[in-house]
Amino acid sequence: MSGVLGIIACLMLFAAPGDPFVREREAMVNAQIVGQGIKDPSVVDAMRSVKRHLFVPQALASSAYDDRPLPIGYGQTISQPFIVAFMTEILKIKPGAKVLEIGTGSGYQAAILACVTPEVYSVEIIEALGLAAGKRLRALGYNTVRVKIADGYYGWEAYAPYDALIVTAAAEYIPPPLIRQLKDGGRMVIPVGSPFMVQKLMLVEKQNSTVYTRDILPVRFVPLRRGP
Ligand code: SAH
Repeated sequence: MSGVLGIIACLMLFAAPGDPFVREREAMVNAQIVGQGIKDPSVVDAMRSVKRHLFVPQALASSAYDDRPLPIGYGQTISQPFIVAFMTEILKIKPGAKVLEIGTGSGYQAAILACVTPEVYSVEIIEALGLAAGKRLRALGYNTVRVKIADGYYGWEAYAPYDALIVTAAAEYIPPPLIRQLKDGGRMVIPVGSPFMVQKLMLVEKQNSTVYTRDILPVRFVPLRRGP
């Protein structure tokens, strides 16, 4: 039931009146999302409905729909819209699937995921960011997203295994706990490589307990931190 409510919240946001950025968002979806090859209707609808300008610092709201990442404080960034959509699409999330995100940041990626499936878990290591994102997600009606403050290297054991895992910070290697918490038949997308260099976005699939990895795209993410 709460899952159904979450999806309804997503649809209601889509039609909400008094949104000064409707046109910018529509233009962003047409040019950067559909125009760059994103096809999954559930992902396109999510990108159309989530108000990205409410996930960036107020002073940057007018740049929220630009084709680039933006700073969100604490040296962290919200990914460029295309990357958010691309990573979501490649996970092939079915409605009802359980998804774990590592790196809540602003909560934007989590809100996009919440439009696709009601079971979204997200782990953030910077307390202030995680608390603010949790509050923001609730205030905007994405009540189904659960946020935990912890080192995401260890995943979120309590709700494992997951159908899909999305890591939004670059790791030097794929953390073994995340591979363990992936369901058989599940998919994980993760940037791998050295901090501040070009990294590889990797797709990890687990089939019959065998792990397959593929390089998908060169990307640049902030590093996955370690420690408390
Ligand atoms: N997905 C976010 C963007 C996140 S930027 C969004 O949509 O806004 C990467 C985030 O990963 C940052 O917030 C950073 O603090 C967080 N992070 C870095 N290392 C982490 C770790 N070990 N565990 C959990 N979160 C981590």
